[in-house]
Amino acid sequence: MTDNINTEQIWRDVLGELEVGVSAASFSSWVRPCFIDSIREIDSERWLVELACPSGFHQKTIDERYYGQIKQILERQVGKRCEIGLVVKQRTTTREVEESREDLFAEEVVESVGGKSLVEYGLNPRFDFDNFVVGSSNNLAYAAAKGVVDTPGVKHNPLFLWGGVGLGKTHLMHAVGRSLVGKGLRVLAITSEQFTNELIATIRTKNVDTFKKKYRNIDALMVDDIQFIAGKESTQEEFFHTFNELYMKGAQIIMTSDRRPQDIEEVEQRLISRFLGGLTVDIGLPDYEMRLAILRQKCSDLKVNVEEGALDLIASSINTNARELEGILTRMVNAAAIGNGVLSRAIVEREIGVSVKKEAKKLRPQQLISLVAQLFDYKNKDILGPSRKADLVRARHITMFLLRDEMGLTLQNVAQLMGGRDHTTVIHAVEKMEREFAVNQEIREQIMMVKQEIYGRD
Ligand code: ADP
Ligand code: MG
Repeated sequence: MTDNINTEQIWRDVLGELEVGVSAASFSSWVRPCFIDSIREIDSERWLVELACPSGFHQKTIDERYYGQIKQILERQVGKRCEIGLVVKQRTTTREVEESREDLFAEEVVESVGGKSLVEYGLNPRFDFDNFVVGSSNNLAYAAAKGVVDTPGVKHNPLFLWGGVGLGKTHLMHAVGRSLVGKGLRVLAITSEQFTNELIATIRTKNVDTFKKKYRNIDALMVDDIQFIAGKESTQEEFFHTFNELYMKGAQIIMTSDRRPQDIEEVEQRLISRFLGGLTVDIGLPDYEMRLAILRQKCSDLKVNVEEGALDLIASSINTNARELEGILTRMVNAAAIGNGVLSRAIVEREIGVSVKKEAKKLRPQQLISLVAQLFDYKNKDILGPSRKADLVRARHITMFLLRDEMGLTLQNVAQLMGGRDHTTVIHAVEKMEREFAVNQEIREQIMMVKQEIYGRD
């Protein structure tokens, strides 16, 4: 194992060398926030290195742009062949909130079914139907998931669940997995990165048969965040064959994604049509009732005493996704634990007061549009209009990017505000800006400039 390997030191050495070859902005945005989470010896010549990236977007960027360089440098530095697995993870030591949150929710209930623990199927034991709250924004997805449990491989095959982050896609998919395991089915739940990483390792070690056996001798395959196969040709090729073989023999396939199949770029058409061949259903943002129900569910999971009205206050002030609610609730539960253990209205008010103050600095969407227009010397109607002048297109992209990423508006909402554009236009704009932000100094500065105006200079 890794006891005598200093992962920190190795990563510092890799960073030192990498810094020379990468632009300063990209380096600090993408590479520096990562760290080596663990190193395991596969055999005397090979290491398995888990590189932790703070977000899915970092992971994707590292994978697409820096994977080769990092691998090369790492292998030279340590004198071994290295298989690098990219995982999404944040440094727990620096993020107290995250840390305590992990503690609270990661109760080690390794439940087992048929002698095998859920984890061995790739399933998160925290996710089941009993603790999944159903409401207007996810009832279709829920019904579809239940349909799959009733008749796996028959109805809704494949089932394609899509929606924004933290809305419960993984939870719901794993709930199905758990029920299918309970029915005696051979289930395999993975992320699309795991599939890619294993495939790469397989190609290197020429262990193709084992790989095929693992992925094809099952009754249900669940692939999380399938959008990350974009641009990866061999993964797509292999996944296509895996998909077909499973499908032909009536195995159930479920996938999740942050966008609709037809909006995933750089994926072969034949795969997209497979994705669309069953049922595609989205999960939206929870409404007030649902947010309240989710909070109640979490409090009962955590066995926390709550003062009357405290949860209503959270539900009416925070209108984002379930993951965010969970994070905020945890912060409050920690605060309560310092006192008498009861989550009171006073605690909520105090904790929400903090985030409300931060919010107050933000503008309304219309003001943001005016602000960008001003900074770029245009009129609002130019930004909202159809002209394709390069400068104007840039300003428009930045506006959409900030409305979506900074203000957290839905795609539909942004599309509407931007003069009734198509929501795929918004997706393209946001993605383009995310990509450019890392590599294009000028765009980065423009975006930072707008943000400075939004938040002031403190
Ligand atoms: P996604 O995969 O869509 O990004 P997750 O499934 O990881 O989101 O959900 C994020 C967190 O929010 C998880 O802890 C999950 O249990 C919780 N969550 C999401 N939706 C619900 C729901 N409807 N009911 C209860 N908890 C939920
Ligand atoms: Mg997920």
